Amino acid sequence: MTKPATRAVHGAGAWMARMVLMASVAVVSFSGCSCERPRRPRRADRMGAEVPRVRVKLGRDTRSVAVAVKGPWRLVGREGEIASGKRLDWTQVTAAGGNVVFGRIATVNGPVELAGAGDVPVRVSQAVGGKARRRRYRGTLRISPTHNGAIRLINVLPMEAYLAGVLANELYPSWHVEAYKAQAIVARTYALVDRNARRRYDYDVQDSQGSQVYGGAGTETATAWEAVEATWGVAATYRVAGGKRALLKTYYHSTCGGDTVAAGGVFGGSTPAPLAGGTKCTYCRKSPKYRWPTVVLTKRHVTGALQRSGSASLTQLGPVWRVEVAARTGRSGRAERIRVVDTAGKSVLLRSGYWRILVGASKVPSTWFDIEDRGDRIALTGGRGYGHGVGLCQWGAQYLAAHGKRGEEIVRYYYPGVELARAY
Ligand SMILES: [Zn+2]
Repeated sequence: MTKPATRAVHGAGAWMARMVLMASVAVVSFSGCSCERPRRPRRADRMGAEVPRVRVKLGRDTRSVAVAVKGPWRLVGREGEIASGKRLDWTQVTAAGGNVVFGRIATVNGPVELAGAGDVPVRVSQAVGGKARRRRYRGTLRISPTHNGAIRLINVLPMEAYLAGVLANELYPSWHVEAYKAQAIVARTYALVDRNARRRYDYDVQDSQGSQVYGGAGTETATAWEAVEATWGVAATYRVAGGKRALLKTYYHSTCGGDTVAAGGVFGGSTPAPLAGGTKCTYCRKSPKYRWPTVVLTKRHVTGALQRSGSASLTQLGPVWRVEVAARTGRSGRAERIRVVDTAGKSVLLRSGYWRILVGASKVPSTWFDIEDRGDRIALTGGRGYGHGVGLCQWGAQYLAAHGKRGEEIVRYYYPGVELARAY
């Protein structure tokens, strides 16, 4: 029975882990940054060893997955090549007793890696939310047995190819290439920070909003590649003690609603200067969430959400009686802490971002609101913005790009004092 080297962190847990990571700062060396660069190879197999490889966990661990390669392929295990061929038709891969059962081709104790020759992608058909989701991935597909009898899929590929598969999922297709360039620098830096912090884990990032949304080669666009090539290797850094520079955890969000907010007020911990917030931004006015209509939640829903959280102090809480904003943060006055009081008078204080995730981030677009008590319900009124409000505002970036700002200028606007440098 093969045991995995690490344990996975899922959902809200990953969100909490990201908060903790803010405190860890990796100091690295950078070369100075001049801007535009010549075009670079789009083929993952031609990207040199200087481009870091990123390990992306695909979906959730699963019992079964189908894979295919429309071209020459190779399957490799710990002890070398297991099989190869000119074309791999759809093959079912399952886990059994700690082994990976690769169709009728092989049963392997331990992880296997499947790759196409050259830049031929690996096709994956995976059940996501009860539906089959077919995607194509550049680089290598690592399939590992987990300790609870499932298999874990990890796409290992060069950072720049990963970014091309992220940008078009994070921004709208019609948006300006300079907004894409800003997003490329920000997404690259974000992934590099995660990668540095997760060296002892079996993956660096997830393919969902837990990290950054990544859809593989099939979701790449010409604009995404143009932005990746123009910003090749460029990352956002800031000065730390001793005159050294460190990678900035480049938080970003959809719509700030008028003003960005300090990272520490949202995630806790210390706030590096470029994430101190208070960047005025009415540029996101065109976002449908610049102002959002009143959201009504039943107290019963809030009670259930807190009790399902798994947190000891929250599960002890009885039926919710009152929900109030206990503290606000930043110039804009976003809710920083929420006080919840139960019908027995017991009260707890939560970070508003955590409260938002618990009651449903899809229901509550941001933490910028007032709370009105309406008997068995609460109403969130005066809502502004979409997302946590820290760092770059994507709708604002699009407006600035459409009005003549360059990608690098946009990054510097939302992270004041940041220095752009080549990480490779
Ligand atoms: Zn904004």
